[in-house]
Amino acid sequence: MTSAFDPKGKTFTQRLKAFLDDVKATYSLTVGQDSGRTVAWQQKHHVAHMFLYNSYRSTKPAKVDGVKRTIAWSHFSNPKVIWATVKFSDFLKTAKNATPVKDGQKWKVGFEPDQKATEKHVKSLQTTAGIGNSGKAMVSSGLKPCAEPCKCGAGRSKHLDGVAADLNSSHLTTLSTKLVTAKAGTLDDYLAKFGLHRPLLNHATSPEKWHVEAK
Ligand SMILES: [Zn+2]
Ligand SMILES: [Zn+2]
Repeated sequence: MTSAFDPKGKTFTQRLKAFLDDVKATYSLTVGQDSGRTVAWQQKHHVAHMFLYNSYRSTKPAKVDGVKRTIAWSHFSNPKVIWATVKFSDFLKTAKNATPVKDGQKWKVGFEPDQKATEKHVKSLQTTAGIGNSGKAMVSSGLKPCAEPCKCGAGRSKHLDGVAADLNSSHLTTLSTKLVTAKAGTLDDYLAKFGLHRPLLNHATSPEKWHVEAK
């Protein structure tokens, strides 16, 4: 890079682009970005997180399990609750691992949701999507405000507001190695030159070494 980038007054998107361009020009490395973040994706995995784990300290669902602070099973499996953005058929499973079937405001006999089968299925939703910490990492809401069946009041994901990005972890590891070889300082020093940082790097419950925001 011939002249230093000045992040002052630049948006997150401009800073990130300048950083990625510089990595490519200086280290011949293309760092990938997670582009799968949509409102539907975010809310689906947020609801799954709040049903199974709820790692948030100060946030809990409207209808809460008193022990686990997660979405209460009585609410999650209530056929009268109308879900927003997310579909119950993506989460709930019967004891025979089929999709529950509604009969008016009740579950059809023999097609009621089963807690164990549902928990097992929802767990796999998180691991298959590559959610960090073996599927247990926090996932922010896709909606503002969060809606049924969670309604927790947590803020909407910064990813959806264009102020955060998840970079490919293995690409970042490759870049860190190249920086060491070039005696060019740490990855965080490099990000700082572009007005970027990793605020969740040392998060107590859900660290995200790949999550980048503007300083
Ligand atoms: Zn929520
Ligand atoms: Zn992130």
